[in-house]
Amino acid sequence: RKAFHVSWDQFHRDARALAWRLSASGPFYGMVAVTRGGLVPAAIVARELNLRLIDTFCVTSYVDENVRGQVKVLKGVSPDIGRDEGSGVLVVDDLADTGATVKIVRALLPKAHIATVYAKPLGGPLVDTYITEVSQDTWIYFPWDLGLSFQAPISETGRV
Ligand code: 5GP
Repeated sequence: RKAFHVSWDQFHRDARALAWRLSASGPFYGMVAVTRGGLVPAAIVARELNLRLIDTFCVTSYVDENVRGQVKVLKGVSPDIGRDEGSGVLVVDDLADTGATVKIVRALLPKAHIATVYAKPLGGPLVDTYITEVSQDTWIYFPWDLGLSFQAPISETGRV
C-alpha cells in the first residue's frame, strides 16, 4: 500500500482550491462538516465561501484491513439543514475512499452538494466535487493524524 503524506501547507492549498471550484456551484446557505475528517477542510472552505451556518454530521467508520466501509451515524443534521432534502447545503469531508460515507450523506440529503478534497477511484464518482484523485491502494496521512506531529518534518511537496 502506498503512503501519501499531506503537509499542512499542501492541505491548505488543496482545500482552498476546493473552495475556489465550489464558488461556481453555489450559492450555499449552509454547510455540513462530516466529522471528524471534514472538520479542518470545512473550516477553510467556510472562510473562503463566507459560510456561517455550519452543522456537523458525526460518523464513525471502521476502516482497517478486515472491515471496510462500515459507517455508523452518531449524530444527524439539524432540521433546518435537513429541510428540502439539503437543497442549498454544502457537505464537506476530507476524502472519499469506498464512498460508504458519501452514500449515507446522499440518502439523507439527496439535494446537497457533496465535496471532498481527495477521492479514491471508488468514491470519486459519488462525490459532486473533489480536487485530487489518489489510487485505491493509497493511504493518505493527514497532518492532524495522530502521532504524525512527532515525526520528522514533511517535505514541501507533501509527498514522500
Ligand atoms: P469511505 O470508505 O466511507 O469513503 O471513507 C471512510 C473514512 O475512512 C474516511 O472518511 C476516512 O476517515 C477514512 N479513510 C479512508 N481512507 C483513508 C485514508 O487514505 N487516509 C485516512 N487518513 N483516512 C481514510
